[in-house]
Amino acid sequence: MHGNEETLEQKCFAQLRPLKVSSEILATAACLMVLTLADNSQVISPWLYSYCVVAGITCFLTWRARTTQGLWLTGMLLLCTCTACLGSLAVAIGNPIIWFLPIGLVLSLPASAMHAHPLHAFSTGAAIWVTLFSVVQPHFDRHLDLTLTLILITASLLVATLVCTTFCHTRKSVFDLQRQLHGMAYKDTLTGLPNRRAFMEQLTATLEGETVPAPLFFLMLDIDDFKKVNDGYGHDVGDQVLVEVAKVLRNQSQGHNFARLGGEEFAIVAQLADVGAAQALARGIVVAVSSSRVFNFSLSISVGLADHKPGESMFSLMRRADLALYEAKSAGKNGYAMAEQALLGA
Ligand code: GH3
Ligand code: MG
Ligand code: MG
Repeated sequence: MHGNEETLEQKCFAQLRPLKVSSEILATAACLMVLTLADNSQVISPWLYSYCVVAGITCFLTWRARTTQGLWLTGMLLLCTCTACLGSLAVAIGNPIIWFLPIGLVLSLPASAMHAHPLHAFSTGAAIWVTLFSVVQPHFDRHLDLTLTLILITASLLVATLVCTTFCHTRKSVFDLQRQLHGMAYKDTLTGLPNRRAFMEQLTATLEGETVPAPLFFLMLDIDDFKKVNDGYGHDVGDQVLVEVAKVLRNQSQGHNFARLGGEEFAIVAQLADVGAAQALARGIVVAVSSSRVFNFSLSISVGLADHKPGESMFSLMRRADLALYEAKSAGKNGYAMAEQALLGA
């Protein structure tokens, strides 16, 4: 999850899509019901039912849309279709002038909250009024009160834009807050690297996925004699060392799952071509850390390397990498060691 954070656009799309699809199905059903009820009391042209067919197709297109832009376009098409349907019905049953404003207001206002951008709300509202005007106006039996109508149309467009702006603002605030909380929960505050929780969640997802990538390698890393740094130079210098080592890891581990597990321990999970590539990665990190200079004293790191065996659990993999790290430390530090066989019973 931490490696692939959702954007505001993706979040909006995920929230709006089900809302739009369900409200569009309801709008289509409502149009169909109104047409059927009107048809029972007086004969209307069966061609009016074709609007419902178009609306149904538009619902399908909304369901298939993949961006908020797509949702806006299909939503606008559906609302214009429903507008034309109800407008034509008003003409068919007589007195269209009475229905002109109610139809426009009922269709343009409730949809305003379901847009990802205020401009989408405004343009959809405008398209509804233009459609209604072109369908109904030629059949007006008397003059419309132009001033009142213009005031109401302008007010409805402004209200729709305002409602949409408020919803968009709220959505963005919630999104920013969630991002902030996510950062706090999944990032190490000192180094900015993903933390243990982020690392474990991603590793679990990798190992429990349908196809576990292979070959997969686990690197457990531990700064050598870190306690001496703290004792000799102070905790703040120790912190600076952690930040510098994190920078080295970030540079060396691009494209892999890496994290600060805690204290002066780090981990990397990498899908690489073979053991040779994994050893080259471990060696590269050891060399990069030993050649980095913080406050002009030398640093080193040790690495335990384990290759994931088919069906092996996360804990077994980590344990073997840990044992290999212990070996690297025993062998004199500033180097790496390869883990042996999978642990029995783990
Ligand atoms: P080894 O080479 O065997 O790994 O020895 P070491 O001294 O690195 O390991 P040890 O486990 O004895 O010491 C780790 C130290 O890391 C102890 C702890 O105070 C320090 N430490 C843990 N977290 C932090 C931190 O966030 N900042 C600083 N400055 N020190 C930390
Ligand atoms: Mg340690
Ligand atoms: Mg250490």
